[in-house]
Amino acid sequence: MNAPFAPSRVDGVRAALLERPSQLLIGGEWVDAQAGGTFDVHDPATGEIIARAAEGTGADIDRAVAAARKAFVSGPWASMAPGGRAALMLKLADAIDAHADELALLESLDGGNPVSSTRHVDIAWAPNSLRHMAGWADKIAGEVPLGNAGAPGFAYTLREAIGVVGAITPWNAPFLMAVNKIAPALATGCTVVLKPAELTPLTAIRLGELAMEVGFPAGVINIVTGMGGVAGQALVDHPDVNKISFTGSTRVGRSILAGAAGSMKRVTLELGGKSPIILYPDADIARAAAAIAQEICFKTGQFCAAGTRLFVHAEVHDQVVEAIAAAMKQIRVGPGLSPETQMGPIVCEKQMERVLDYIAQGAACGAELVTGGKRIGDKGWFVEPTLITGAQGHMSIARDEIFGPVLATMQFGAGDDLDAVAAMANDTDYGLAAKIWTRDLGTAHGLARRIGAGTITINGGGGSSPMPFGGFKQSGLGREGGREGVLAYTEIKTVSVGF
Ligand code: NAP
Ligand code: MG
Repeated sequence: MNAPFAPSRVDGVRAALLERPSQLLIGGEWVDAQAGGTFDVHDPATGEIIARAAEGTGADIDRAVAAARKAFVSGPWASMAPGGRAALMLKLADAIDAHADELALLESLDGGNPVSSTRHVDIAWAPNSLRHMAGWADKIAGEVPLGNAGAPGFAYTLREAIGVVGAITPWNAPFLMAVNKIAPALATGCTVVLKPAELTPLTAIRLGELAMEVGFPAGVINIVTGMGGVAGQALVDHPDVNKISFTGSTRVGRSILAGAAGSMKRVTLELGGKSPIILYPDADIARAAAAIAQEICFKTGQFCAAGTRLFVHAEVHDQVVEAIAAAMKQIRVGPGLSPETQMGPIVCEKQMERVLDYIAQGAACGAELVTGGKRIGDKGWFVEPTLITGAQGHMSIARDEIFGPVLATMQFGAGDDLDAVAAMANDTDYGLAAKIWTRDLGTAHGLARRIGAGTITINGGGGSSPMPFGGFKQSGLGREGGREGVLAYTEIKTVSVGF
Protein backbone atom coordinates (compact mmCIF):
# COMPACT_ATOMS: atom_id res chain seq x y z
CA MET A 1 0.00 0.00 0.00
CA ASN A 2 1.63 3.24 -1.15
CA ALA A 3 -1.09 5.68 -0.14
CA PRO A 4 0.48 8.81 1.40
CA PHE A 5 -0.97 8.13 4.84
CA ALA A 6 -0.89 4.34 4.82
CA PRO A 7 0.06 2.72 8.16
CA SER A 8 3.42 1.57 6.75
CA ARG A 9 4.26 5.18 5.86
CA VAL A 10 3.31 6.29 9.37
CA ASP A 11 5.48 3.57 10.89
CA GLY A 12 8.39 4.73 8.73
CA VAL A 13 8.01 8.32 9.89
CA ARG A 14 7.77 7.21 13.54
CA ALA A 15 10.84 5.00 13.30
CA ALA A 16 12.87 7.78 11.69
CA LEU A 17 11.89 10.12 14.52
CA LEU A 18 13.17 7.80 17.20
CA GLU A 19 16.50 7.42 15.42
CA ARG A 20 16.97 11.10 14.69
CA PRO A 21 19.64 12.81 16.84
CA SER A 22 18.23 15.63 18.97
CA GLN A 23 20.07 18.62 17.62
CA LEU A 24 19.88 22.32 16.91
CA LEU A 25 20.58 24.04 13.61
CA ILE A 26 23.20 26.71 14.24
CA GLY A 27 25.41 28.33 11.61
CA GLY A 28 24.56 25.67 9.02
CA GLU A 29 25.52 22.75 11.31
CA TRP A 30 23.38 20.34 13.32
CA VAL A 31 24.80 20.49 16.83
CA ASP A 32 23.96 19.22 20.31
CA ALA A 33 22.63 21.68 22.85
CA GLN A 34 25.62 23.01 24.75
CA ALA A 35 24.28 21.91 28.13
CA GLY A 36 23.47 18.51 26.59
CA GLY A 37 19.77 18.57 27.50
CA THR A 38 16.91 17.02 25.54
CA PHE A 39 13.16 16.88 26.11
CA ASP A 40 10.36 14.47 25.17
CA VAL A 41 7.95 15.11 22.33
CA HIS A 42 4.52 13.46 22.61
CA ASP A 43 1.73 12.23 20.36
CA PRO A 44 -1.39 13.89 21.84
CA ALA A 45 -3.63 11.12 20.49
CA THR A 46 -1.96 8.57 22.77
CA GLY A 47 0.32 10.49 25.13
CA GLU A 48 3.24 8.36 23.87
CA ILE A 49 6.75 9.75 23.48
CA ILE A 50 7.49 9.93 19.75
CA ALA A 51 10.81 11.77 19.72
CA ARG A 52 13.28 13.77 21.75
CA ALA A 53 14.38 17.27 20.87
CA ALA A 54 17.47 19.20 21.93
CA GLU A 55 16.87 21.55 24.84
CA GLY A 56 18.58 24.74 23.80
CA THR A 57 19.48 27.28 26.47
CA GLY A 58 20.91 30.79 26.59
CA ALA A 59 24.35 29.57 25.44
CA ASP A 60 22.81 28.07 22.30
CA ILE A 61 20.82 31.23 21.63
CA ASP A 62 24.09 33.19 21.94
CA ARG A 63 25.72 30.94 19.34
CA ALA A 64 22.70 31.08 17.03
CA VAL A 65 22.43 34.87 17.23
CA ALA A 66 26.16 35.19 16.51
CA ALA A 67 25.76 32.92 13.46
CA ALA A 68 22.73 34.91 12.29
CA ARG A 69 24.62 38.19 12.72
CA LYS A 70 27.60 36.89 10.81
CA ALA A 71 25.38 35.74 7.94
CA PHE A 72 23.59 39.09 7.96
CA VAL A 73 26.70 41.24 7.69
CA SER A 74 29.07 39.12 5.61
CA GLY A 75 29.22 36.15 3.29
CA PRO A 76 26.94 35.00 0.49
CA TRP A 77 23.61 36.07 2.02
CA ALA A 78 24.73 39.61 2.76
CA SER A 79 25.92 40.12 -0.81
CA MET A 80 23.16 38.18 -2.56
CA ALA A 81 20.89 40.11 -4.90
CA PRO A 82 17.18 40.05 -4.00
CA GLY A 83 16.53 37.74 -6.95
CA GLY A 84 18.97 35.22 -5.50
CA ARG A 85 17.17 35.23 -2.19
CA ALA A 86 13.84 34.83 -3.99
CA ALA A 87 15.21 31.89 -5.98
CA LEU A 88 16.22 30.11 -2.76
CA MET A 89 12.81 30.81 -1.25
CA LEU A 90 11.10 29.33 -4.30
CA LYS A 91 13.32 26.25 -4.05
CA LEU A 92 12.32 25.85 -0.41
CA ALA A 93 8.64 26.18 -1.39
CA ASP A 94 9.13 23.43 -3.99
CA ALA A 95 10.91 21.23 -1.45
CA ILE A 96 7.98 21.63 0.95
CA ASP A 97 5.59 20.62 -1.82
CA ALA A 98 7.75 17.61 -2.64
CA HIS A 99 7.69 16.50 1.03
CA ALA A 100 4.12 17.60 1.75
CA ASP A 101 2.75 14.17 2.69
CA GLU A 102 5.62 13.45 5.05
CA LEU A 103 5.39 16.92 6.63
CA ALA A 104 1.62 16.55 7.07
CA LEU A 105 2.11 13.21 8.82
CA LEU A 106 4.73 14.67 11.10
CA GLU A 107 2.56 17.69 11.90
CA SER A 108 -0.41 15.48 12.76
CA LEU A 109 1.66 13.13 14.86
CA ASP A 110 3.18 16.01 16.82
CA GLY A 111 0.23 18.38 17.27
CA GLY A 112 -2.73 16.03 16.88
CA ASN A 113 -4.53 17.85 14.08
CA PRO A 114 -6.22 15.73 11.40
CA VAL A 115 -3.91 14.80 8.58
CA SER A 116 -6.56 15.99 6.11
CA SER A 117 -6.26 19.51 7.51
CA THR A 118 -2.48 19.55 8.08
CA ARG A 119 -2.04 18.37 4.49
CA HIS A 120 -4.55 20.73 2.86
CA VAL A 121 -4.21 23.76 5.13
CA ASP A 122 -0.94 24.04 7.09
CA ILE A 123 1.44 22.30 4.74
CA ALA A 124 -0.37 23.42 1.57
CA TRP A 125 -0.40 27.10 2.56
CA ALA A 126 3.22 27.29 3.67
CA PRO A 127 4.77 27.18 0.16
CA ASN A 128 2.31 29.85 -0.96
CA SER A 129 3.47 32.06 1.86
CA LEU A 130 7.08 31.59 0.72
CA ARG A 131 6.21 32.24 -2.93
CA HIS A 132 4.22 35.36 -2.09
CA MET A 133 7.05 36.75 0.01
CA ALA A 134 9.65 35.76 -2.62
CA GLY A 135 7.81 38.08 -4.97
CA TRP A 136 8.44 40.98 -2.59
CA ALA A 137 12.21 40.44 -2.45
CA ASP A 138 13.02 42.76 -5.38
CA LYS A 139 10.09 45.15 -4.91
CA ILE A 140 10.87 46.70 -1.56
CA ALA A 141 12.03 50.24 -2.14
CA GLY A 142 12.35 53.67 -0.59
CA GLU A 143 10.87 56.83 -2.05
CA VAL A 144 11.87 60.21 -3.36
CA PRO A 145 8.93 62.53 -2.67
CA LEU A 146 8.34 64.91 -5.58
CA GLY A 147 8.92 68.01 -3.48
CA ASN A 148 12.23 66.62 -2.25
CA ALA A 149 13.72 66.07 -5.71
CA GLY A 150 15.01 69.43 -6.73
CA ALA A 151 17.80 71.96 -6.31
CA PRO A 152 19.62 72.68 -4.12
CA GLY A 153 19.53 69.03 -3.09
CA PHE A 154 17.13 66.26 -2.38
CA ALA A 155 15.99 63.78 0.23
CA TYR A 156 14.97 60.19 -0.16
CA THR A 157 14.17 57.14 1.93
CA LEU A 158 15.87 53.77 1.99
CA ARG A 159 14.28 50.54 3.19
CA GLU A 160 16.84 48.37 4.94
CA ALA A 161 16.57 44.86 6.33
CA ILE A 162 15.99 45.05 10.06
CA GLY A 163 18.78 42.54 10.87
CA VAL A 164 18.64 39.46 13.07
CA VAL A 165 15.08 38.31 13.74
CA GLY A 166 14.07 36.16 16.68
CA ALA A 167 10.99 34.15 15.68
CA ILE A 168 8.97 32.47 18.42
CA THR A 169 6.08 30.24 17.39
CA PRO A 170 3.14 28.39 19.03
CA TRP A 171 2.00 24.77 18.85
CA ASN A 172 -1.35 25.11 17.12
CA ALA A 173 -0.01 25.59 13.57
CA PRO A 174 3.71 24.97 14.05
CA PHE A 175 4.88 24.62 10.47
CA LEU A 176 2.78 27.38 8.92
CA MET A 177 3.68 29.80 11.70
CA ALA A 178 7.39 29.05 11.30
CA VAL A 179 7.20 29.62 7.54
CA ASN A 180 5.09 32.77 7.93
CA LYS A 181 7.83 34.25 10.07
CA ILE A 182 10.82 33.08 8.08
CA ALA A 183 9.39 34.10 4.68
CA PRO A 184 9.25 37.91 5.09
CA ALA A 185 12.59 37.83 6.93
CA LEU A 186 14.25 36.06 3.98
CA ALA A 187 12.55 38.33 1.44
CA THR A 188 14.03 41.41 3.08
CA GLY A 189 17.50 39.91 3.60
CA CYS A 190 17.23 39.39 7.35
CA THR A 191 18.52 36.30 9.13
CA VAL A 192 16.53 34.26 11.62
CA VAL A 193 16.77 32.38 14.89
CA LEU A 194 13.59 30.33 15.27
CA LYS A 195 12.40 28.98 18.63
CA PRO A 196 9.46 26.63 17.97
CA ALA A 197 6.93 25.62 20.63
CA GLU A 198 8.20 23.01 23.02
CA LEU A 199 5.08 20.86 22.45
CA THR A 200 5.51 20.68 18.66
CA PRO A 201 9.10 21.15 17.47
CA LEU A 202 9.27 18.42 14.82
CA THR A 203 8.23 20.11 11.58
CA ALA A 204 10.37 23.17 12.32
CA ILE A 205 13.39 20.86 12.55
CA ARG A 206 12.40 19.30 9.24
CA LEU A 207 12.03 22.80 7.75
CA GLY A 208 15.63 23.49 8.80
CA GLU A 209 16.79 20.31 7.06
CA LEU A 210 14.97 21.26 3.86
CA ALA A 211 16.42 24.78 3.98
CA MET A 212 19.93 23.34 4.21
CA GLU A 213 19.22 20.91 1.37
CA VAL A 214 18.08 23.65 -1.02
CA GLY A 215 21.21 25.67 -0.29
CA PHE A 216 20.50 28.47 2.16
CA PRO A 217 23.86 29.79 3.34
CA ALA A 218 25.02 28.92 6.86
CA GLY A 219 23.51 31.09 9.59
CA VAL A 220 20.58 32.48 7.58
CA ILE A 221 18.08 30.12 9.26
CA ASN A 222 18.95 28.84 12.73
CA ILE A 223 16.62 26.64 14.76
CA VAL A 224 16.89 26.37 18.53
CA THR A 225 14.33 24.08 20.14
CA GLY A 226 13.80 24.44 23.87
CA MET A 227 11.68 25.95 26.60
CA GLY A 228 9.95 29.28 26.20
CA GLY A 229 11.06 30.60 29.55
CA VAL A 230 14.70 29.73 28.80
CA ALA A 231 15.54 29.70 25.07
CA GLY A 232 12.62 31.99 24.14
CA GLN A 233 13.40 34.42 26.92
CA ALA A 234 17.11 34.44 25.99
CA LEU A 235 16.14 35.44 22.45
CA VAL A 236 13.93 38.25 23.71
CA ASP A 237 16.66 39.49 26.06
CA HIS A 238 19.50 39.19 23.57
CA PRO A 239 21.06 42.59 22.82
CA ASP A 240 22.04 41.62 19.27
CA VAL A 241 18.54 40.62 18.13
CA ASN A 242 16.86 43.44 16.20
CA LYS A 243 13.30 42.18 16.10
CA ILE A 244 11.10 39.62 17.78
CA SER A 245 8.31 38.16 15.72
CA PHE A 246 6.06 36.26 18.09
CA THR A 247 2.89 34.25 17.71
CA GLY A 248 1.36 32.90 20.88
CA SER A 249 -0.70 33.81 23.89
CA THR A 250 -1.48 37.35 24.98
CA ARG A 251 0.07 36.58 28.37
CA VAL A 252 3.48 35.73 26.91
CA GLY A 253 3.11 38.45 24.25
CA ARG A 254 2.78 41.04 27.00
CA SER A 255 5.97 39.81 28.68
CA ILE A 256 7.79 39.87 25.34
CA LEU A 257 6.72 43.46 24.72
CA ALA A 258 8.01 44.43 28.16
CA GLY A 259 11.23 42.43 27.67
CA ALA A 260 11.88 43.96 24.25
CA ALA A 261 11.67 47.44 25.72
CA GLY A 262 15.14 47.11 27.28
CA SER A 263 16.97 47.17 23.98
CA MET A 264 14.06 48.73 22.06
CA LYS A 265 13.68 45.72 19.78
CA ARG A 266 11.04 45.90 17.09
CA VAL A 267 8.18 43.50 17.76
CA THR A 268 5.38 41.91 15.82
CA LEU A 269 2.93 40.16 18.12
CA GLU A 270 0.22 37.81 16.86
CA LEU A 271 -1.75 36.94 19.97
CA GLY A 272 -4.97 35.43 21.22
CA GLY A 273 -8.57 36.07 20.31
CA LYS A 274 -12.18 35.68 21.39
CA SER A 275 -13.78 36.41 18.09
CA PRO A 276 -17.48 37.25 17.78
CA ILE A 277 -19.83 35.78 15.21
CA ILE A 278 -22.96 37.80 14.48
CA LEU A 279 -25.81 36.02 12.80
CA TYR A 280 -28.93 37.73 11.44
CA PRO A 281 -32.16 35.99 10.41
CA ASP A 282 -31.72 36.89 6.73
CA ALA A 283 -28.48 34.84 6.50
CA ASP A 284 -28.25 31.44 4.84
CA ILE A 285 -28.83 29.74 8.19
CA ALA A 286 -27.95 26.21 7.13
CA ARG A 287 -24.66 27.28 5.57
CA ALA A 288 -23.80 29.54 8.50
CA ALA A 289 -24.53 26.86 11.11
CA ALA A 290 -22.41 24.29 9.29
CA ALA A 291 -19.53 26.75 8.90
CA ILE A 292 -19.70 27.88 12.53
CA ALA A 293 -19.64 24.27 13.81
CA GLN A 294 -16.81 23.39 11.48
CA GLU A 295 -14.74 26.40 12.48
CA ILE A 296 -14.95 25.80 16.23
CA CYS A 297 -13.79 22.22 15.60
CA PHE A 298 -10.99 23.22 13.20
CA LYS A 299 -7.75 22.45 15.05
CA THR A 300 -9.98 21.35 17.94
CA GLY A 301 -10.74 25.00 18.61
CA GLN A 302 -7.01 25.69 19.01
CA PHE A 303 -7.22 28.34 16.34
CA CYS A 304 -6.51 31.97 17.20
CA ALA A 305 -9.12 33.47 14.87
CA ALA A 306 -11.89 30.96 15.67
CA GLY A 307 -15.37 32.39 16.17
CA THR A 308 -16.04 31.52 19.80
CA ARG A 309 -18.79 33.95 20.87
CA LEU A 310 -21.92 33.58 18.76
CA PHE A 311 -24.38 36.48 18.90
CA VAL A 312 -27.51 35.20 17.25
CA HIS A 313 -30.72 37.08 16.58
CA ALA A 314 -33.51 35.87 18.89
CA GLU A 315 -35.82 35.18 15.93
CA VAL A 316 -33.58 32.32 14.72
CA HIS A 317 -31.81 31.42 17.95
CA ASP A 318 -33.39 28.01 18.55
CA GLN A 319 -33.13 27.00 14.91
CA VAL A 320 -29.45 27.96 14.79
CA VAL A 321 -28.62 26.22 18.06
CA GLU A 322 -30.31 23.05 16.86
CA ALA A 323 -28.44 23.11 13.55
CA ILE A 324 -25.04 23.76 15.15
CA ALA A 325 -25.59 21.04 17.77
CA ALA A 326 -26.58 18.57 15.03
CA ALA A 327 -23.48 19.47 12.99
CA MET A 328 -21.22 19.12 16.05
CA LYS A 329 -22.59 15.66 16.77
CA GLN A 330 -21.66 14.60 13.23
CA ILE A 331 -17.99 15.59 13.60
CA ARG A 332 -15.75 12.53 13.60
CA VAL A 333 -13.31 12.88 16.50
CA GLY A 334 -10.22 10.69 16.51
CA PRO A 335 -6.46 10.47 16.12
CA GLY A 336 -5.08 12.98 13.66
CA LEU A 337 -3.46 10.23 11.63
CA SER A 338 -6.75 8.56 10.70
CA PRO A 339 -7.72 9.93 7.30
CA GLU A 340 -11.42 10.02 8.28
CA THR A 341 -10.81 12.11 11.42
CA GLN A 342 -12.29 15.61 11.30
CA MET A 343 -11.25 16.73 14.79
CA GLY A 344 -8.20 15.52 16.69
CA PRO A 345 -7.19 15.68 20.36
CA ILE A 346 -6.25 18.74 22.38
CA VAL A 347 -2.47 19.22 22.30
CA CYS A 348 -1.69 18.15 25.89
CA GLU A 349 -3.31 17.04 29.12
CA LYS A 350 -2.91 20.40 30.85
CA GLN A 351 -4.63 22.19 28.01
CA MET A 352 -7.44 19.59 28.00
CA GLU A 353 -7.99 20.11 31.75
CA ARG A 354 -8.14 23.84 31.15
CA VAL A 355 -10.82 23.44 28.47
CA LEU A 356 -12.91 21.14 30.68
CA ASP A 357 -12.57 23.59 33.54
CA TYR A 358 -13.95 26.43 31.41
CA ILE A 359 -16.92 24.28 30.45
CA ALA A 360 -17.57 23.55 34.14
CA GLN A 361 -17.31 27.26 34.96
CA GLY A 362 -19.92 28.04 32.29
CA ALA A 363 -22.33 25.49 33.75
CA ALA A 364 -21.70 26.77 37.28
CA CYS A 365 -22.62 30.30 36.15
CA GLY A 366 -25.98 29.13 34.80
CA ALA A 367 -25.21 28.78 31.09
CA GLU A 368 -26.79 25.75 29.42
CA LEU A 369 -24.78 22.90 27.96
CA VAL A 370 -26.56 21.86 24.75
CA THR A 371 -24.11 19.28 23.48
CA GLY A 372 -20.65 17.96 24.32
CA GLY A 373 -18.80 19.08 27.43
CA LYS A 374 -16.96 15.89 28.28
CA ARG A 375 -13.63 14.20 27.73
CA ILE A 376 -13.77 11.30 25.27
CA GLY A 377 -12.16 8.08 26.48
CA ASP A 378 -9.16 7.96 28.79
CA LYS A 379 -6.31 7.70 26.30
CA GLY A 380 -5.09 10.83 24.54
CA TRP A 381 -6.56 14.27 25.17
CA PHE A 382 -9.93 14.26 23.40
CA VAL A 383 -12.83 16.62 24.22
CA GLU A 384 -16.31 16.61 22.66
CA PRO A 385 -17.36 19.49 20.41
CA THR A 386 -19.25 21.67 22.88
CA LEU A 387 -22.11 24.14 22.51
CA ILE A 388 -23.19 26.33 25.40
CA THR A 389 -26.19 28.69 25.22
CA GLY A 390 -27.30 31.51 27.50
CA ALA A 391 -23.79 32.83 28.04
CA GLN A 392 -23.45 36.36 29.41
CA GLY A 393 -20.79 38.91 28.66
CA HIS A 394 -19.21 38.72 32.13
CA MET A 395 -18.78 34.92 32.20
CA SER A 396 -15.34 33.42 31.69
CA ILE A 397 -16.67 31.31 28.78
CA ALA A 398 -17.54 34.61 27.05
CA ARG A 399 -14.36 36.47 28.00
CA ASP A 400 -11.37 34.15 28.04
CA GLU A 401 -9.67 32.47 25.12
CA ILE A 402 -10.49 28.81 25.87
CA PHE A 403 -8.56 27.32 22.93
CA GLY A 404 -10.80 24.29 22.70
CA PRO A 405 -13.88 23.22 20.71
CA VAL A 406 -16.25 25.31 22.83
CA LEU A 407 -18.79 27.74 21.37
CA ALA A 408 -20.79 30.06 23.64
CA THR A 409 -23.95 31.72 22.34
CA MET A 410 -25.68 34.96 23.32
CA GLN A 411 -28.74 36.64 21.83
CA PHE A 412 -29.66 40.03 20.46
CA GLY A 413 -33.03 41.24 19.27
CA ALA A 414 -34.96 43.46 16.90
CA GLY A 415 -34.44 46.43 19.27
CA ASP A 416 -30.64 46.26 18.93
CA ASP A 417 -29.32 48.59 16.22
CA LEU A 418 -25.86 48.22 14.65
CA ASP A 419 -24.22 50.24 17.41
CA ALA A 420 -25.73 48.03 20.09
CA VAL A 421 -24.76 44.79 18.32
CA ALA A 422 -21.24 46.08 17.66
CA ALA A 423 -20.93 47.08 21.33
CA MET A 424 -21.70 43.49 22.35
CA ALA A 425 -19.16 42.15 19.87
CA ASN A 426 -16.56 44.69 21.03
CA ASP A 427 -17.04 43.87 24.71
CA THR A 428 -13.75 41.95 24.85
CA ASP A 429 -10.06 42.60 25.48
CA TYR A 430 -9.32 40.96 22.13
CA GLY A 431 -9.73 42.09 18.53
CA LEU A 432 -8.32 39.47 16.21
CA ALA A 433 -11.30 38.59 14.01
CA ALA A 434 -15.09 38.87 13.63
CA LYS A 435 -17.54 36.99 11.46
CA ILE A 436 -20.80 38.41 10.15
CA TRP A 437 -23.64 36.43 8.58
CA THR A 438 -26.30 38.51 6.84
CA ARG A 439 -27.53 39.16 3.29
CA ASP A 440 -28.06 42.85 4.04
CA LEU A 441 -25.23 44.97 2.64
CA GLY A 442 -25.79 47.86 5.03
CA THR A 443 -25.73 45.56 8.06
CA ALA A 444 -22.64 43.71 6.84
CA HIS A 445 -20.51 46.72 6.01
CA GLY A 446 -21.97 48.83 8.83
CA LEU A 447 -20.81 46.22 11.33
CA ALA A 448 -17.46 45.76 9.56
CA ARG A 449 -16.80 49.47 10.21
CA ARG A 450 -17.93 49.34 13.83
CA ILE A 451 -16.17 46.19 15.06
CA GLY A 452 -12.62 46.49 16.37
CA ALA A 453 -10.90 43.48 14.84
CA GLY A 454 -8.06 42.87 12.41
CA THR A 455 -10.00 40.57 10.08
CA ILE A 456 -13.73 40.77 9.38
CA THR A 457 -15.28 37.87 7.50
CA ILE A 458 -18.68 38.31 5.84
CA ASN A 459 -20.71 35.23 4.88
CA GLY A 460 -17.75 32.91 5.23
CA GLY A 461 -15.34 35.19 3.36
CA GLY A 462 -13.53 34.85 0.08
CA GLY A 463 -10.41 35.85 -1.82
CA SER A 464 -7.16 34.01 -2.18
CA SER A 465 -4.38 36.62 -2.06
CA PRO A 466 -2.44 36.81 1.19
CA MET A 467 -3.87 39.67 3.23
CA PRO A 468 -2.46 41.39 6.31
CA PHE A 469 -3.42 39.44 9.43
CA GLY A 470 -3.24 40.59 13.02
CA GLY A 471 -5.06 42.01 15.95
CA PHE A 472 -6.59 45.12 17.45
CA LYS A 473 -6.35 45.64 21.22
CA GLN A 474 -4.77 42.73 23.13
CA SER A 475 -4.76 40.46 20.08
CA GLY A 476 -1.45 41.87 19.01
CA LEU A 477 0.75 44.49 17.49
CA GLY A 478 1.52 44.83 13.79
CA ARG A 479 0.44 42.61 10.92
CA GLU A 480 1.74 39.47 9.29
CA GLY A 481 1.28 38.92 5.55
CA GLY A 482 0.99 41.18 2.52
CA ARG A 483 2.76 44.51 2.16
CA GLU A 484 2.43 45.46 5.84
CA GLY A 485 3.81 42.08 6.82
CA VAL A 486 6.97 42.37 4.75
CA LEU A 487 7.65 46.02 5.58
CA ALA A 488 7.59 45.05 9.26
CA TYR A 489 11.00 43.41 8.63
CA THR A 490 12.54 46.66 7.42
CA GLU A 491 13.77 49.91 8.91
CA ILE A 492 13.25 53.14 7.05
CA LYS A 493 16.09 55.63 6.72
CA THR A 494 15.88 59.18 5.39
CA VAL A 495 18.88 60.48 3.46
CA SER A 496 19.07 64.20 2.83
CA VAL A 497 21.59 65.34 0.23
CA GLY A 498 22.89 68.82 -0.39
CA PHE A 499 24.69 69.70 -3.62
P1 NAP B 1 2.42 30.53 24.28
O1 NAP B 1 2.33 29.71 25.50
O2 NAP B 1 2.33 32.00 24.41
O3 NAP B 1 3.78 30.12 23.56
C1 NAP B 1 4.14 30.60 22.30
C2 NAP B 1 5.65 30.50 22.15
O4 NAP B 1 6.28 31.36 23.09
C3 NAP B 1 6.19 29.10 22.43
O5 NAP B 1 7.27 28.85 21.58
C4 NAP B 1 6.65 29.24 23.87
O6 NAP B 1 7.60 28.29 24.25
C5 NAP B 1 7.23 30.63 23.84
N1 NAP B 1 7.39 31.25 25.16
C6 NAP B 1 6.76 30.94 26.33
N2 NAP B 1 7.21 31.75 27.31
C7 NAP B 1 8.12 32.58 26.77
C8 NAP B 1 8.93 33.65 27.28
N3 NAP B 1 8.88 34.02 28.55
N4 NAP B 1 9.76 34.29 26.43
C9 NAP B 1 9.81 33.94 25.12
N5 NAP B 1 9.08 32.93 24.59
C10 NAP B 1 8.24 32.27 25.40
O7 NAP B 1 1.31 30.15 23.22
P2 NAP B 1 0.86 28.70 22.81
O8 NAP B 1 0.09 28.16 23.96
O9 NAP B 1 2.02 27.94 22.29
O10 NAP B 1 -0.09 28.99 21.55
C11 NAP B 1 -1.42 29.31 21.69
C12 NAP B 1 -1.65 30.81 21.63
O11 NAP B 1 -1.17 31.32 20.38
C13 NAP B 1 -3.10 31.19 21.68
O12 NAP B 1 -3.26 32.27 22.54
C14 NAP B 1 -3.41 31.60 20.25
O13 NAP B 1 -4.48 32.50 20.12
C15 NAP B 1 -2.13 32.19 19.83
N6 NAP B 1 -2.04 32.23 18.36
C16 NAP B 1 -2.17 33.42 17.73
C17 NAP B 1 -2.12 33.48 16.35
C18 NAP B 1 -2.23 34.79 15.63
O14 NAP B 1 -1.82 34.85 14.48
N7 NAP B 1 -2.76 35.82 16.22
C19 NAP B 1 -1.91 32.31 15.61
C20 NAP B 1 -1.79 31.11 16.29
C21 NAP B 1 -1.84 31.09 17.68
P3 NAP B 1 7.08 26.92 24.96
O15 NAP B 1 6.36 26.18 23.92
O16 NAP B 1 8.31 26.25 25.39
O17 NAP B 1 6.22 27.33 26.10
MG1 MG C 1 3.51 16.88 20.38
